[in-house]
Amino acid sequence: MRGFKRHDSRLWPVLAMLLAAALLPTACVLWFMGEAMRNERLASRQKLLEAYRAPLERVRARLDAHWDQRAGELPAYDPTRDPTAVFAGLIASGHVDSAVLLDPAGAVRYPECIVAIGEEAAAGFEWRAAEVLEFQARDFVGAAELYREAARTARDPALAVRARIACARCLARLGSLSEALDLLQQVVTERAYQNIRDTNGRLVVADAALLLLQFLDPAADRYQQVAHMLALLATDYRHGLLPAAQRRAIMEQLAPIVGAGAFPTLAAERLAAQYAETEPASPPVPGRLTRAPVAGCWQLASSDGTLVALYRESRITSELSAIVQSEAISGATVRLLQPDQRGPEPFLALAASEAMPGWQLALDLTGPDPFADQARRRTALYLWTGLAVALLTAMLTMLVGRHVGRQVRLTRLRNDLIATVSHELKTPLASIRALVDTLLDTDARDPRQTREYLQLVARENLRLSRLIDNFLAFSRMERNKHTFAFAGTPPAEVVSAAVDAAGKRFHSPGCHLEVKVAPGLPPVVADRDALVTVLLNLLDNAWKYTGDDKRITLSACAADGHVRFEVRDNGIGLSRRAMRRVFDRFYQVDQSLSRKAGGCGLGLSIVQFIVEAHGGAVSVESQPGKGSAFTVSLLAEPGEN
Ligand code: ADP
Repeated sequence: MRGFKRHDSRLWPVLAMLLAAALLPTACVLWFMGEAMRNERLASRQKLLEAYRAPLERVRARLDAHWDQRAGELPAYDPTRDPTAVFAGLIASGHVDSAVLLDPAGAVRYPECIVAIGEEAAAGFEWRAAEVLEFQARDFVGAAELYREAARTARDPALAVRARIACARCLARLGSLSEALDLLQQVVTERAYQNIRDTNGRLVVADAALLLLQFLDPAADRYQQVAHMLALLATDYRHGLLPAAQRRAIMEQLAPIVGAGAFPTLAAERLAAQYAETEPASPPVPGRLTRAPVAGCWQLASSDGTLVALYRESRITSELSAIVQSEAISGATVRLLQPDQRGPEPFLALAASEAMPGWQLALDLTGPDPFADQARRRTALYLWTGLAVALLTAMLTMLVGRHVGRQVRLTRLRNDLIATVSHELKTPLASIRALVDTLLDTDARDPRQTREYLQLVARENLRLSRLIDNFLAFSRMERNKHTFAFAGTPPAEVVSAAVDAAGKRFHSPGCHLEVKVAPGLPPVVADRDALVTVLLNLLDNAWKYTGDDKRITLSACAADGHVRFEVRDNGIGLSRRAMRRVFDRFYQVDQSLSRKAGGCGLGLSIVQFIVEAHGGAVSVESQPGKGSAFTVSLLAEPGEN
């Protein structure tokens, strides 16, 4: 048995190198492909970002312009202008929900705080005593008396009018309603009293009119007249008669009577008052939209900081979203995010406007990414190119591998053949030379011994011929040069030719050859000489691998459209492992035995080659120590039996 393993181990480094040569570039190509695909995706996203940045910047410019305009509309501080009128003008513009006016020092000008402007003591009248009687002692008669006296004697009309109102109040409490009404009526109509204010700066006439409304019958004409007069007063911002708080109070009271629609500035007044009551942590930054200290409200201070415009959340939302929506962006929508507002992650976000600190413009894609298609196509191209390169490399590697493997096997075969041929030829040649030398050296020739020597020379010669025949057959077989002349061949003819060729040794005393050919066997389509070689090789092996008592049977029979040739012996037999390998080239179970018998491990591989070339099959059955049976099965010629 030749050292196949040794040869195979030489093949491994070559295969490993081939594999590395294939895997390395494939891995590189796949890596580059992955990188290219990633870059393509990033580039596509970048393109999309750039494409959408421009419209978002346009929206931002619109927002900037909007707030520039709004800030420009806010008037600067002007001490000569009545803040009440400024307030009314702003509300009338409809651009703000309310406003608070300040002076340069930051004090509120509108809605102004009510400050006490005088003291009763200055009147020289026991005002306090009258109030004690009215509110603590509840002596309305006494209190009314004191107030009436004061009204009559007071030189200051302000005191006189306030005393009259107080007197009317007490009279009403006492049930003298008509007297009270008369008194109040006088106050309301008296010209001299029209601009008089109380110690809190409130217009006295307005308070008297409100009181009058309480006592009048709502169905009376007078009631309507007074309400109308009061409504006119409350909505008159030009003359600035009413302090903001009193104006608001009148509006609140009259709204249910004359309808809220009569006071379009009431909501603004309320908001301004709410704002004025709070104490902002820091003054608003001019020109910047920030949250007002009033819930749900935003503020924008004028450039000099003396006017704070107030905007309700709803106005901000609707105005700004109208601006945002005015820029039509195909395939995307834009959201305006308030400072700290959380939402789904947008595709692109930009600071909304310089005037709106913390606000963001968020763009979301609605349609399919227009660059994605292109990127997908490129990615697919990379992918397929990469895969094609990998596949091509794998195929090339396989081809090269097969070629290299074949070359290595051929080289190995050649080496084995040369080694075997030279080795196997040596023994018979040496024997022949020794026999011939002996014959030549011996003068007195014993004819019997000479004949014996010559027989030995003939045997060695035959052995040499067999060897060379096998080598030639093998060489042709390996070079695919073996040609067969197929023809219908009677099996009996093949069997008898093989027996003839096997020679006389099969008829020697220690050998019993039995030939059994079933009668009427159909011919087989075969190359006659090749088939004889097959049987001869099997017979030769049977002879070689049996002991001194050789019992060999060569039989031929028909089975299932086939003709089966069998060579059975009672020889040394084969192990299971050996049975699996006997048809391998150069395989020999026991080299010393084969050498002694004359063989080179090619006989059975030639048998297998020829049989398979005939479309047949060869198999072996054997038991170590008991013998072997080699069967060749060939297709019988059709139509013949
Ligand atoms: P060889 O020229 O060595 O006989 P073969 O290819 O004919 O080569 O046979 C391969 C090996 O198979 C032989 O070396 C032998 O060990 C084994 N073998 C072949 N025929 C028989 C048989 N009839 N009985 C036992 N062993 C056999």
